[in-house]
Amino acid sequence: MKKFINILLCAVMVLSTAACSSNEESIYTSGTYSAKAKGFGGDVVVSITTDSTQITDVDIDASLETPSIGGNAAESLREAIIENQNVEVDVVTGATVTSNAVIAAAKKAISQAMGVEVSKTALTDGTYSTKSVGYSWTGMIYTDVVIENNAIKSITITEEHDSETGEMAATAYTNMIPRLLEVQSLSVDAISGATSTSNAIKDCVSQAIELAGGDASEWYTDIAKSNETIKLEGYDVIVVGLGGSGIMSYCAAAEEGATVFGIETTAKLGGQSATTTGPMVIDSKSPAFEGVTFANPDEVYQVWLDYVESDEKADIIHEAVYNSGKYLDYYIENFGLDFAGMILSFVRPQWSQFWTMYVGENNTSNIFGPNKTYQYNRSMDLAVAMNEKNDYKLELTAEELIYDNNEIVGVKATYYDGTTYEIYGDTVILATGGYIGNEEMVLENWGVMPNTVSSLVNDGTGIEMGLSAGGTTYMMGVDPMIHILQVPNLIKNDDLTANQKAILSALALVKGEKAVTINGTPLDPTWVEAQIPGYKYYNIYSEEQINSYKNTGLTENFAYATSMFMSQGGSFEVGKPISDMDTILEVGMNYNNVLHADSISELAKQIGCEEATLRETLGDNDTSYYAVAVSGYTYGSVGGLDVDINMNVLREDGTAISNLYAVGTDSMGVENIEGKPYTPWGGQAHAWIFTSGYLGGKAAAKNGMAK
Ligand SMILES: Cc1cc2nc3c(=O)[nH]c(=O)nc-3n(C[C@H](O)[C@H](O)[C@H](O)COP(=O)(O)OP(=O)(O)OC[C@H]3O[C@@H](n4cnc5c(N)ncnc54)[C@H](O)[C@@H]3O)c2cc1C
Repeated sequence: MKKFINILLCAVMVLSTAACSSNEESIYTSGTYSAKAKGFGGDVVVSITTDSTQITDVDIDASLETPSIGGNAAESLREAIIENQNVEVDVVTGATVTSNAVIAAAKKAISQAMGVEVSKTALTDGTYSTKSVGYSWTGMIYTDVVIENNAIKSITITEEHDSETGEMAATAYTNMIPRLLEVQSLSVDAISGATSTSNAIKDCVSQAIELAGGDASEWYTDIAKSNETIKLEGYDVIVVGLGGSGIMSYCAAAEEGATVFGIETTAKLGGQSATTTGPMVIDSKSPAFEGVTFANPDEVYQVWLDYVESDEKADIIHEAVYNSGKYLDYYIENFGLDFAGMILSFVRPQWSQFWTMYVGENNTSNIFGPNKTYQYNRSMDLAVAMNEKNDYKLELTAEELIYDNNEIVGVKATYYDGTTYEIYGDTVILATGGYIGNEEMVLENWGVMPNTVSSLVNDGTGIEMGLSAGGTTYMMGVDPMIHILQVPNLIKNDDLTANQKAILSALALVKGEKAVTINGTPLDPTWVEAQIPGYKYYNIYSEEQINSYKNTGLTENFAYATSMFMSQGGSFEVGKPISDMDTILEVGMNYNNVLHADSISELAKQIGCEEATLRETLGDNDTSYYAVAVSGYTYGSVGGLDVDINMNVLREDGTAISNLYAVGTDSMGVENIEGKPYTPWGGQAHAWIFTSGYLGGKAAAKNGMAK
């Protein structure tokens, strides 16, 4: 897609730089001009420096974009704008939102240099049907955008699949669409936690503007932000992050009698916890588990200590094992949580009576698990009602701790409209869900940015706050949580139908006869191996095998494999010939999910491994091969702040920062060990929200109320 400066008066001069230069005709007032537009993660700021006839420099601040995607796009756009001397530049593939923001901001800055205003091109009234890729693995977002009198009149979602991956998408539909209609600007903020869905809607609107004869880059008009500061004072406990662990600690503190304020950046309660199936639990007395024979706690405790090869945090692991049932029961009894009995622990089947599942709202579920935000809403309603001062605020992003004489006295946060909140309290509980959304921390700890199924809103803010207060980390580098495998480059658009994607997934996920690692050695596809960040392997098929699937279809093995992993919405019939196999493989190749080679040496080159090794693995049979790639998809980080049994954040010397606590993923390193995947029994991560939430909430409340 090409973008043009659309300023009638100067169009000829700008679009024909050579003519301008040769005539030495003045186009710009020399200087540096800056403008911004909303990118994927936040504002992109472009500064254009000109002399009277040329753009001499372009500076793009895209620091809020994902560095490896938007950051790279910004650099290539910078070069293109300087080279072309205008914004007639190609959008960078895979970074459309960032590219459009850079182009829109550059256009505004150039128009300032020319001393003219960016005017909006007239639009033709009509209803424009558009589609874009959002968060979902299973399908795109389709909209009908009505344009009337040069304004965006309405945006109707006609089909969407983002809700199938959880309840967060709804916040983009209910919160962002009315805001976009009100401000009539594509610079409207994405809803925190629903960034992909929000940006897909904005992309649909951009396309509608273009279809109506307009230029979407003219629609990034600035939106006024509040510069008000609101101070809230007198809380015993402030909870930062209202996902699972934040809500559990809020409830425990409120029940203890403390006054509590909660800060949540997204537009709904629950965080990643609202996408989980459920926690591990032992010896719950709740009627939900009547008749259940639980796993033996002595055995689990010992296996756990052996796994982490240390008894340094034995007191905490003891709580997590022996009191997991007790803490869960506390929330069931006092805060209305609802569970539906036990399910098989798929990681350690011998502990089958171990992993319990939430009851979904009206027994509904999404592809990650039961729809359960209603349960968290109910728990918070009950907790807030325990004291009339108790409160919480959504779309409020915590940024830093407030200190007075080196003591933590509160939290500074920003509301989506720009209002600054200073919330003062005696104790602070950090519950921001770890660091998967912080590329810098991820690369520092894992060396690669893994594929993820989690929201990147959990960007390490809690851990950074803890560190800034003098705290230290514990097992920060534990590998990310990975239970899910899929092709490395999800095809989220409709280049393939859902059923075609299901076949590609099956070819990737089946435990093939010839599966090889990236080194060309035979694969042992165990969970442990799959949890290595950046993990990838290839299922290798000869042309002959592929032809046989074309003619006689896939077998039961393939169906079993795909049922274990993340569905992309479609299905296939075992034994049914696959007439479109060539299309599936070809599209797979376009996305680097499939390699095709006519010999082992060619395949080795493409995989990047030693030919001799691959030859040994594949049995020295030189024929035509397809290699279908598989990658791990992570739930989130594991390591975090060091804490004691009260969830009090610890300094490197082991002393506690008396009024700072960390719960949930922000402190889950204490149950794990670096160099191994996180403890391999299903539900451990989610069980930690109850154990750490209860212990941290109670301790912070007692501490805060005593001050
Ligand atoms: C798809 C999926 C399925 C999973 N299934 C399971 C499972 O079945 N069993 C299991 O044990 N584990 C599972 N997990 C892991 C799960 O994430 C943990 O079990 C646990 O629920 C995390 O809780 P938490 O409170 O630490 O994080 P979250 O629930 O994510 O809460 C963190 C909260 O902090 C908020 N926040 C972040 N930054 C800020 C800020 N600056 N200001 C204000 N708020 C902020 C976030 O918006 C969020 O609401 C799953 C994870 C995913 C992604």
